Amino acid sequence: MKKQLISLINKSRLVSTVQDLVRIPSVNPPGNEKPVAEYLYQLLNKWGFEIDIINDPSPHRPQILAKLPGNGERPPLILNGHMDVVPEGDHSQWTDHPFSGSLHNGRIYGRGSCDMKGGIGVALEVARVIQLSELELNGDLVLAFAIGEETGEPGTRSILEHSGYRDGFGIVLEPTDFKVGVAEKGLAWFRVMIKGKPVHCSIAEKGINPIDKFLVFGKEVKEHDKNIRKRIHPKCGPAKCTMTMINAGTKENVVPESLSVILDRRINPDETAKAVQAEIEKILTKLSASDPDFSFSVELVRLYESAEIPSSLPEIESLCEEVEAVTGKKAKIWGTPFSTDVRNFINDVNIPAVTFGPGEVDQAHTFDESIRIEDLFNAVQVVLGVAANLIL
Ligand SMILES: [Zn+2]
Repeated sequence: MKKQLISLINKSRLVSTVQDLVRIPSVNPPGNEKPVAEYLYQLLNKWGFEIDIINDPSPHRPQILAKLPGNGERPPLILNGHMDVVPEGDHSQWTDHPFSGSLHNGRIYGRGSCDMKGGIGVALEVARVIQLSELELNGDLVLAFAIGEETGEPGTRSILEHSGYRDGFGIVLEPTDFKVGVAEKGLAWFRVMIKGKPVHCSIAEKGINPIDKFLVFGKEVKEHDKNIRKRIHPKCGPAKCTMTMINAGTKENVVPESLSVILDRRINPDETAKAVQAEIEKILTKLSASDPDFSFSVELVRLYESAEIPSSLPEIESLCEEVEAVTGKKAKIWGTPFSTDVRNFINDVNIPAVTFGPGEVDQAHTFDESIRIEDLFNAVQVVLGVAANLIL
């Protein structure tokens, strides 16, 4: 059966679809995914797929939920991709136009080629091949194309909630270069405000200078970072806490009325955002207990949860076998150091899912971003093999 499926792959359809997608500049921010959604709708509609347009969380940024229905004997296989790309930056830094979709040396070039219109193209080719095979599906093959991944919006979460699926298996086709991402690090940004009391600097001692308070707090954060780096997750590596932005002061000769500092906290799958915040609050509470002038607040401004599934799942074993069969290399089980929508599958709807796809992650978000055509072709074969095992 797999041989029959592979014989139906149309490489030029795969390449031209990815080129088409790259040529639609779906930059986010501000969130211009709509023309991509329209392209996908037209293509899938022409092919005769069942399609739902999901106008949530944003009525102006439609999302696509499409399927080839199965007979219901097996749970669905859900292929996921985000339609948005990060801004292209300075055009003069690109060799070709950032949205050229040009071909050189066996690669497709342009913003989003690797992250992750290549992955969307793979999902489309897999779906088209399965459809053309006219094989009976035991489980639904589902395509879920989301908005707002690059800005942490609940696009994929919303599609999954609307889909009604609560079992099955998901593949988030982000560029992992064929590594099998069963865990992912989370990320939380905390804004810590330290309050001051502004006075003229000629009588600075009569005020409260939040920069002085920060000098103590900052040392504690460095110590905290050192300690939590000893918490090493077997797949995701060490937890981390990094100070990234700082803001204080209204004028050169005024003791500042407040100071804010952002902490970027990388959260491992065995940590929770709540516990991580409590640790930061504990440091601050200790400082304010020993200094009556130390007054603070902590706000969680952004959260991408961590997520993990057991690597012993049969779906993961199947995926690893297909990777080895297609690439000739042993599949690497991995924890992604970056966040993807896989957390929406695992944490929000309790469907096991993996981050897996073609393309090297160091291509993502760079000038002259590109993806190897051979990788796209191999990824289609791998995902077809998984589909054959799970839903055919
Ligand atoms: Zn991505």
